Amino acid sequence: MPKDDWRGGLDWDVFVRDRYTCRYCGLSIKAFKNRWDLFAADHLKPRNPKSKTGGPDTVMNLVTACVGCNALKGNFDPTNGGPPPETAEEQERLVQIANGHIKAKRDKFVADCIAMQESRAVGK
Ligand SMILES: [Zn+2]
Repeated sequence: MPKDDWRGGLDWDVFVRDRYTCRYCGLSIKAFKNRWDLFAADHLKPRNPKSKTGGPDTVMNLVTACVGCNALKGNFDPTNGGPPPETAEEQERLVQIANGHIKAKRDKFVADCIAMQESRAVGK
């Protein structure tokens, strides 16, 4: 996470609201040895999707995300081209949709890594 991109304190409002915890996987910044560099405020509706209607820098459109979830989410748009969230309930609904996308990609990635690890194990 680039430290020159704190969006004027907006990211901190997001971290505090989310209790310093990834909204997607539940990883805690504090429990993770205060590795603040591994967390970011992620745009639920992506900032730079292919369409012109990018997600805004608002507390409602930003959620705390660990670097893994942030990378796996990529430019996935849980609004499917719709408007960014304006309520906590809508935000949570979109987090769940995004988390389904993230979890599917993570499960495949982890399975691939385990297979690679086993193929390179000593004696194989
Ligand atoms: Zn996460």
